[in-house]
Amino acid sequence: MNILILGGGGREHALAWAIKQNPKCDRLIVAPGNAGIARIAECSDLDILDGAAVVAFCEANSVDFVVVGPEAPLAAGVADATRAAGILTFGPSQAAARLEASKGFTKEICDACGAPTAGYARFTEAEAARAHVQASGAPIVVKADGLAAGKGVVVAMTEAEAIAAIDDMFAGSLGAAGAEVVIEEFMAGEEASFFVLTDGRTVLPIGTAQDHKRAFDGDEGPNTGGMGAYSPAPVLTPAIQRQALDEIIKPTIAEMARRGAPYSGVLYAGLMIEQGRARLVEYNVRFGDPECQVLMLRLGAQALDLLLACAEGRLDEMRVNWAEDHALTVVLAARGYPGRYEKGSEIRGLEALPETSRQVVFHAGTAARDGRITAVGGRVLAATARGGTLAEARDAAYAMVDAIDWPEGFCRRDIGWRAL
Ligand code: ATP
Repeated sequence: MNILILGGGGREHALAWAIKQNPKCDRLIVAPGNAGIARIAECSDLDILDGAAVVAFCEANSVDFVVVGPEAPLAAGVADATRAAGILTFGPSQAAARLEASKGFTKEICDACGAPTAGYARFTEAEAARAHVQASGAPIVVKADGLAAGKGVVVAMTEAEAIAAIDDMFAGSLGAAGAEVVIEEFMAGEEASFFVLTDGRTVLPIGTAQDHKRAFDGDEGPNTGGMGAYSPAPVLTPAIQRQALDEIIKPTIAEMARRGAPYSGVLYAGLMIEQGRARLVEYNVRFGDPECQVLMLRLGAQALDLLLACAEGRLDEMRVNWAEDHALTVVLAARGYPGRYEKGSEIRGLEALPETSRQVVFHAGTAARDGRITAVGGRVLAATARGGTLAEARDAAYAMVDAIDWPEGFCRRDIGWRAL
């Protein structure tokens, strides 16, 4: 079959890498892709936020299956457009994607189905929001309702910090995303991510992971899109996974169906674990980046069968064949990221790294120019490896990092520390 993947980051390289290994995949196209993806698939500069353009592209290229990587096309309704045109699609509808696109909506769903999460209040005016903070005290969490690329959440340790965040958001610092603000109770504990596939009826867990959001070692420095991840996450014990499925994820899927917005695709639950119980922090309606890299390395070619079964509504027939192993990914980013960084520096040493079923350097912000690989984004590469233990996976991933010659880049040296 001919398959189109939407997106061009490390997540989409990992999806393409896994899908390409499955004999069901004939032609593989990724839009926009990147230099790493271009070595295993065709890349296209199709506008992935334009549903009509995606449908026209699929028709012109006999695409049988569309896999949507990032949240923006989902929130824009691209999966609705392709499905309406009769094209098999992996990814939730625009209505179901509200589980990520509106934090207030997710809270409303948690209330309706009794899923444990932080207490909260919703505001459309700064005055009332400030009063709420003054009445509740700190620490407290201030969130813009809409999509803000990870910049819409302030975990405020003082009332003054919370009030500054409220004033900022209502002053329009995040545009329409901050027109409504959700203020949440602060949850203590350890965070982990739980990934399930669902076709709206069956819920199939496909792995757990933990990521590292801060830019520098020791979880210091500014927040980023993610500097590394590993799977599985030991903090998500089988008992906590069962609790999260029974109390959070399955009730959410049932509530979405009850509301006429059945959820189909991958559901990524960000959980806070404290005293052996999970509470929901947030939902994402797509794979995490870089969590997808570790999940795909562990799943391999079966990923395509799972995504197809999900899109076709026959997940009840599927099971995941797990290797009893661990995977870890280290992100290499341009110096200066997540602030200002230079583009165009050359990355050397990639050709010499063997790519196997146990280790791959996934590309994110890369481009190929005259046979050379250059950095064109903030997060640029994800060195990803598997091992019998997490320590083995880490050593293999860092061995790849050390073989990459890119003085203009940096990475954290402590990925996995929590579990090691
Ligand atoms: P991303 O998708 O980049 O993870 P986001 O903008 O969707 O972020 P959230 O995941 O809701 O936002 O929040 C970002 C981070 O803030 C969480 O990963 C968590 O560390 C922290 N956080 C959010 N809500 C709470 C809370 N109620 N208590 C404590 N920490 C929280």
